[in-house]
Amino acid sequence: MLSNDLHSRNKSSAWLSIDLGALAANYNLFKDQAKPGCAVAGVIKADGYGLGVDKVLATLENQDCAFYFVATLDEALHLRKLTQKPIAMFGGLYHGAEDYYIHDNIIPVLNSLADIKAWQEQTQNHDIPLPAIIHFDTGMNRLGLGQDETQSLLNDQDRLKGLKLEYFMSHFACADDVGSPMTQEQYERFKTATAAFPTIKKSLCNSAGTFRSSDYHFDLLRPGMALYGLNPTPEQDNPMRPVVKLETRILQIRNVKKGETVGYGAIHHFEKDTAVATVALGYADGFLRSLSGKGHLYYKDTACPIIGRVSMDLVTIDIGALNTPPQTGDIIEVLGPYQDADTLAKIAGTIGYEILTDLGRRYHRDYI
Ligand SMILES: *Cc1c(COP(=O)(O)O)cnc(C)c1O
Repeated sequence: MLSNDLHSRNKSSAWLSIDLGALAANYNLFKDQAKPGCAVAGVIKADGYGLGVDKVLATLENQDCAFYFVATLDEALHLRKLTQKPIAMFGGLYHGAEDYYIHDNIIPVLNSLADIKAWQEQTQNHDIPLPAIIHFDTGMNRLGLGQDETQSLLNDQDRLKGLKLEYFMSHFACADDVGSPMTQEQYERFKTATAAFPTIKKSLCNSAGTFRSSDYHFDLLRPGMALYGLNPTPEQDNPMRPVVKLETRILQIRNVKKGETVGYGAIHHFEKDTAVATVALGYADGFLRSLSGKGHLYYKDTACPIIGRVSMDLVTIDIGALNTPPQTGDIIEVLGPYQDADTLAKIAGTIGYEILTDLGRRYHRDYI
């Protein structure tokens, strides 16, 4: 039999380890940060930021998380099979899908007067109050009621009749930038838009916003990225515990001579004799091709430069500088103590969110 754990791990090209204890600790750090009376939701869209929503949900359930947010209706309907807690979806009210929301008790984030009207018609048709969150756009200009729509709503509050308003919300554009004046401006606009409704609960903060000022907390925080270990305060050390570790294996090692090249396009020319390790990792695993010739992977504590193109299944690294040369089959760190997702993202010209949500399907996943 080859089915024991050790063998099942050995047959994988690379290993993704997700620390659910750290995820729980990160959630609790938000509970500690939240001002008294402010609850902490879990934002678990995009398969829990790529980490596997079922496991993420089970972990947050154990911490008594009372509210979940996702982006799409399909994500919400999947979650509904796993929890009885309130589930809201940012993407609004999908035309023609209203029955799904009602049947599974999904709370739409209503992003326009048209959304509000359509949902209100449902309350009339079904003769029941339906739960809703109303999203005021305070500067992001993507989703939510803009200034004119907000004013129309304030002038005619009958538009809200029959709706069970769970929250008013808005979303920060620049909370990760400690120097941006926009965060405070959005807060002021949100306060103005909601001033006429002192009894309705309010939610403004993503992960980064939470750390900017407790004035912004209101009644519900909506952290996502920081739960998964990304840094919500890029200007200072990461207050979160790391959640993700990614390791791969060396498939082959070869000595190369000055003047030779490596990989597709032969873009890397060796300027001296050295050794190259070919590792099992590629853009099909979400390891971005923009990392070709940039950044490092780690052998033990030593950074080995990525050389040549990142291909679908393989990455090549220069191991010539290592004192004790590695062997075929040895482990190479992609993400872990020596390099976190934020660091790798910066080198790739992207953000940690994209590194996580791109994490591939071929990795052996260990939840610890
Ligand atoms: C994704 C999202 C969040 C969570 O943001 P993070 O930066 O991951 O903490 C909160 N609110 C809205 C509207 C979102 O789309």
